[in-house]
This record gives sequence, structure tokens and C-alpha cells, in this order.
Amino acid sequence: MTKTIQLKRDELSSNFSGKEKYDLIIIGSGLSGLSSGLIWLKNTHGKKTLIIEKNSYPGGYSTAYEKHGYVFETTQLFPDIIDILDYLEIDLNLKQYEGNFMRRIVVDGEHVDEYKIPTGAENFTKYLIEKFPDDAEKIRALMAYSVDMFKQVRKLKANSKLKDKLLIPFQAPKVVANLNRTYSGLLDKFDINNPKLREVMETFTSFSGVPSSRASSIMATGAMLSSMTRCFRPYGYFDEFPATMAQLFQQRGGEILFGSEVEKIVVENGQVAGVQLSGSSTPILAEKVITTVDPLVAMRKLVGEEHLPSSYVEKLDKIIMSTSSINVALGLDDEIDLQSMDLDYPYNVVSTGLGTAEKLFDGFLAGDNAFSTDCFHTAVICPSLTTGAKNTITIRCTPFAMNKWTEWRENDYNKYKAEKERWGDFFINIAEKYFIPGLSKHIVVKDISTPATYARYSGSPTGSLYDMASLVTQFGPKRLPMKTPIKNLYQPKFSHGLYGTMMNGVQVVDLILDRKFNNGNSLFAPISR
Ligand SMILES: Cc1cc2nc3c(=O)[nH]c(=O)nc-3n(C[C@H](O)[C@H](O)[C@H](O)COP(=O)(O)OP(=O)(O)OC[C@H]3O[C@@H](n4cnc5c(N)ncnc54)[C@H](O)[C@@H]3O)c2cc1C
Repeated sequence: MTKTIQLKRDELSSNFSGKEKYDLIIIGSGLSGLSSGLIWLKNTHGKKTLIIEKNSYPGGYSTAYEKHGYVFETTQLFPDIIDILDYLEIDLNLKQYEGNFMRRIVVDGEHVDEYKIPTGAENFTKYLIEKFPDDAEKIRALMAYSVDMFKQVRKLKANSKLKDKLLIPFQAPKVVANLNRTYSGLLDKFDINNPKLREVMETFTSFSGVPSSRASSIMATGAMLSSMTRCFRPYGYFDEFPATMAQLFQQRGGEILFGSEVEKIVVENGQVAGVQLSGSSTPILAEKVITTVDPLVAMRKLVGEEHLPSSYVEKLDKIIMSTSSINVALGLDDEIDLQSMDLDYPYNVVSTGLGTAEKLFDGFLAGDNAFSTDCFHTAVICPSLTTGAKNTITIRCTPFAMNKWTEWRENDYNKYKAEKERWGDFFINIAEKYFIPGLSKHIVVKDISTPATYARYSGSPTGSLYDMASLVTQFGPKRLPMKTPIKNLYQPKFSHGLYGTMMNGVQVVDLILDRKFNNGNSLFAPISR
């Protein structure tokens, strides 16, 4: 019997009381907004707090939706954030991925290599050594260094004061040494030259849609270790995660206003005064505002450049937002036996060999994409193996630039549809060839998201999946600071992904409360629980 479809996100509604003034307004009910809201309520008492969300449901990029009897999900796993979930008393029935973290296929002409990347850094090291015995010493050295570097990241402060800065070289020398190093640079440091081994290691930069020659080595190492140590997904549909957070936020005294778009962040004398909603002439006043939306939109459009110092505007001009994507969600008939196809991993990834990520990223930077039958990187995910719902798979294809997707969608819908179908077929063929034989015969529902879809739902005009791209040139202290030039306006953008969004909440509340609960730590390490 197939599971009934009841999305938790649809059980929620606005509980906006219409107060004239709030202590804190948060723009956006994605996971950055929700984690900020819940952590704030836990560490303050009786504060009037409002989240404003333009969509009719919470979750932003992390959600699930129903189409013709099938449930499709956007996100697929969350890395190890269990400590924060416990701290916030968020109770979710979670599946922990044991055994293998990823099935990884690398195609070189007619030659195909397959890897099963295990969970846990030690298991991964052992596995790599078995696969690449000639490189054993280099692998051991790289992995030991990586684990140590990630431990040192834990010693950093999020918004360093002078005293913290002076201590960094002693507490976290590996972090200092890698601040400007790309992930390729880190692999070079350990003489990892074997192209096959390099390709496996570089799997973890492609998580962020950037090639290893541009990705921050610290970010890639963090992504690798935080996701492979322990990773999870809900047994239910993925919207349960944000919807549970939104529900708790409301139960704990927070208000959420769904279906309302913030048009303006009101600034008076260099200080935030509140927000103005689209279609309303009366602002909602607030002592403090946190924005979790696309930072270029927030600063240029909602605040307005006239309120910002020219040095900050110059910084905005240089920011490269992350890539967008085509996502092919398929509902399949009951005849297909997905259980037998060895797909129950957080990711099944197939790509062409070394250099693919660079070529694809260059295509994105040129304003389009560089996918071809000789150059691709694609992930196939099979959520119904966990949820027990009707058979679904999702094929994720990054990086795509916005190109003309929004223009086609608005002005030439036939062209938009034709392009969607063309790319849909391209990626279905790849999934069919490498993971799911006979796939196209079993498709009942096809739902293709384009960069225009991402732009529409997120409000990011570039349809960027991962906020500011995690390039080495705009990571860590080089990202836009959380404290904006407008007093009492905060923009938490630690990193991307569900781990990053939870840290956004940790960091921004700790900053506002003057290190009251997390002692200024960059990652979650609260003073008392
Ligand atoms: C297809 C896909 C798959 C992914 N898979 C994973 C994964 O498996 N694991 C992982 O860790 N990460 C994954 N990510 C990344 C992760 O989902 C995001 O980094 C994260 O959800 C971002 O959360 P956020 O709250 O910062 O931003 P968003 O989710 O973008 O939330 C911002 C919210 O603000 C709202 N908003 C925007 N403008 C306004 C306005 N003017 N007024 C009011 N509201 C506004 C938006 O509607 C949105 O709800 C994935 C992303 C995508 C797109």
C-alpha cells in the first residue's frame, strides 16, 4: 500500500497579530530564518519576534511538494547538525545513512569506474587506500591534515575581536595557512596527482557547484567531513524539517506572516527602523532586522545603495553568486523495482573525468552552461526508497546560469517548454544509462525545474542555489560580514547548505546577544544547554 500524501508544510498558517513594533523581524522562513528565530527565542524571554515569508509555506529551498499524486523533494540530506536539533528540541524521525555515503561513477570515454564512498573519515581513508594503494601515504597525510584543520575551525570565533585575531595563528595555524588556498592547492600540497584519486576527492567541491581550482580548501574539507561523518534525512518528506521548526517557532511565541513580500528595509539615520511590505504603505517597525534573502537583493534593492557606504557597494559589485540548476523530478510507475538498483545513498553521482567541474563552471561564468555528452556531472537521488511513497527520483544538474530562462518563461513560453524538455531528456538519458536501465519507459510524471523556477521561489534573480559562491576569494572572513553597515541590520551568510544555515542562526543570534550563548564560537558550541 502506498503512503498517503500529507505535507506538513500545508498544516501551517500565519499567526501574525499585527503589532506595530517588534523586537526582531526576520525576512525569510528558509532554514537560515527559522534557525535564527528559534535560537533567538530560546535565548531571549518575551521578545516580540516576527518572520515574514513571501511564499505560503516555510522552508525556502528546503521543501517538498505534491504533483499528480507524487511527492517531490528539493533537498536530500543534512550533515551532522544533531547537536543543534537537540538544543532546540526539534524532534524528527531521522534516517541515518550508515555504510556508504555515495555511489560515484566516473566515465572516461567507454571506460567506467565505480566507487562506493563510505561514511566516516576513517572508513573513507581506508577505502581510498584500498583503491589507490600506491598513494597510501599521501592519502593518510591528506586525511589526517584535513581532520586536524576542521578541528581548528572549531576554535575560531565568528566575529573576531582584536584579541581573537591575535590568537588565531596559535590556535588555528592550519586554517590560517589555508585561508587563500584552493582545494586543488591542498591536493597539490599532498602530491595527489593520480587523476582518478583526484576526481574522487574533488567530489566534495562539486557539492557547492564550484570547481576545486576555485573552491576554498577549508570549505571543501568542512563539506566533506561534516557530511560524511554522520548524515541524515527525515523518514517523512523533507518539508517536515522546516515545517517542524516553523511550528515550534509559533508555539514558542514567535509570529510568522506567510504570503507577504518585504519590499523595503526601512532605514532612518543609518539605523534599521523596520520593513515595508509589498502593497502596504505602513511599515512594520522593528528594533532589529535579520535578512536571510539573496544578499545582493537585500542590500541593493531592499535597503538601497543610497544608504550604503561606497566601499560596501564596491564589495557588492564584486560578488559572484552561486550557480543555478536544472532539476528533473520524475514520478515512476509501480512496475519499476528501484529497490533492486542499488540507489539507496544520499547521492548517486556520475560525471566525466578530471577537469569536468572546471569546464562546467566556465560555462556558467560565461552566462550559460557547458553540458554535453562528453562533459557532465549529475546526481540521481531516490527519496521514495526512504519515504515509502510512490516511486520518485530526482536528477540534479548543476551548474547552469540564468541565461534567458526567466525571459523565455515570461515572454516565449513555447521556447521555455522546448528547452526544458530538451535538457530533461538529456539528463534522463544519463540517469538511464548509468543508474536506472529502462527509466524512460516508467515515467508517469515529469516536473522539470529551471533556473527561472529557482528564481521565482527563492527571490534570487540569478536562481542561485548556494548563496554567494564558495570561492576561495569570498569565503570565511572574505564573505559579506554579518553586521551590515546599517545599524541593527544583520545578514547571516556563514556558508550554504543545511549545515551552513543552522550555523547562520547560531552566529547571528550570538552576535546580537554579545556572545551570550555560544561564546562567539564560529561553530555550535554553546556555553550551557
Ligand atoms: C535543489 C536543491 C537541493 C539542495 N540540496 C541540499 C542538500 O541535500 N543538503 C544541503 O545541506 N543543502 C542543500 N541545498 C542547499 C540548501 O537547501 C540551502 O543552502 C538552504 O536551504 C538555504 O536556506 P536559506 O534559509 O539560507 O535560504 P532560502 O531557502 O533561499 O530561504 C530564503 C527565504 O526567503 C524568502 N524570501 C525571499 N525574498 C523575500 C522577501 N522579499 N520577502 C519575504 N520573504 C522573502 C524566500 O521565499 C525563502 O523562503 C540544496 C539546494 C537546492 C536548491
